[in-house]
Amino acid sequence: MSLGETSVEKIILAEPRGFCAGVDRAVEGVRNALRAYGRPLYVRHQIVHNRFVLEALESEGAVFVENLDEVPEGQRVIFSAHGVAPSEWERAHVRGLRVIDATCPLVTKVHSEVEKYAHEGRTVVLVGHQGHEEVKGTLGVAPGKVVLVGSVEEARAIEISDPTRCAAVTQTTLSVDDTREIMDTLKERFPAMLTPKTDDICYATQNRQNAVKELVAVSDAVLVVGSKQSSNANRLVEVARQRGARAFLVDSLADVESEMLGGVRALGLTASASSPEWLVERIIEAFASRGAAVELLSVATERVKFPLPMPAD
Ligand code: SF4
Repeated sequence: MSLGETSVEKIILAEPRGFCAGVDRAVEGVRNALRAYGRPLYVRHQIVHNRFVLEALESEGAVFVENLDEVPEGQRVIFSAHGVAPSEWERAHVRGLRVIDATCPLVTKVHSEVEKYAHEGRTVVLVGHQGHEEVKGTLGVAPGKVVLVGSVEEARAIEISDPTRCAAVTQTTLSVDDTREIMDTLKERFPAMLTPKTDDICYATQNRQNAVKELVAVSDAVLVVGSKQSSNANRLVEVARQRGARAFLVDSLADVESEMLGGVRALGLTASASSPEWLVERIIEAFASRGAAVELLSVATERVKFPLPMPAD
């Protein structure tokens, strides 16, 4: 980054931002296991979608694998916050792996809903993004009984063999507004469809999106700190853009370009649920050292905390 002179007079910092309780638990779960068992410690999939977190954990002894076959038999392996299909548990069992489950409890809740609905003989519509790790796991809870819907168009097009026996669940990190539209379309087409009392969008996703909406109203541009593969980071950018903001996804200070800041006086700043706070602090420091003031815009206070994953014997 070469910030040079900027027109930015103040940074407006969204709260809540950054790590959610599920990410905190997963990252601490890896560190806890490293302390207890030493290195190497195998982790299935990126524990959270942020390269700085991954690099830090790698340097501490975590070994990230995409396939359980890469884990030597009998070793310990951590499942990431995104959750896995039951078939992955079976594979781990067959290979004698000792599993530490860092699946976010809010993802586990969605898995339980799918299991229950499928057991009742219902077709389950999963509102989510094709290919996302969480979606792969949720689809695998009841193979053949879960249909993925990613857009309003798809919601208008899907066919359900028995519309009187169907239910819907959602990926936890989607855009609240887009999901509502898809859900409304589904409910209109399938009035008997069961839906969760509140949708499955998690509290952290909801709060960060609410904060970004407020941020847009008072900022000339918005920076979202997060990785490209992070679903909730991309949704934050989308939410800001849908409200007409100039919004940019930046992995770190190194990605902040002066072209993003032309004419910007009030710069909104937030971070996805998988982005550590130190990345935000570096950006604040860079602007503060050029004379920018820092203001807090708080929309909620989060006190959610999940117990650490149980260690494997
Ligand atoms: S974003 Fe929500 S569902 Fe995902 S890990 Fe965090 S708390 Fe859990």
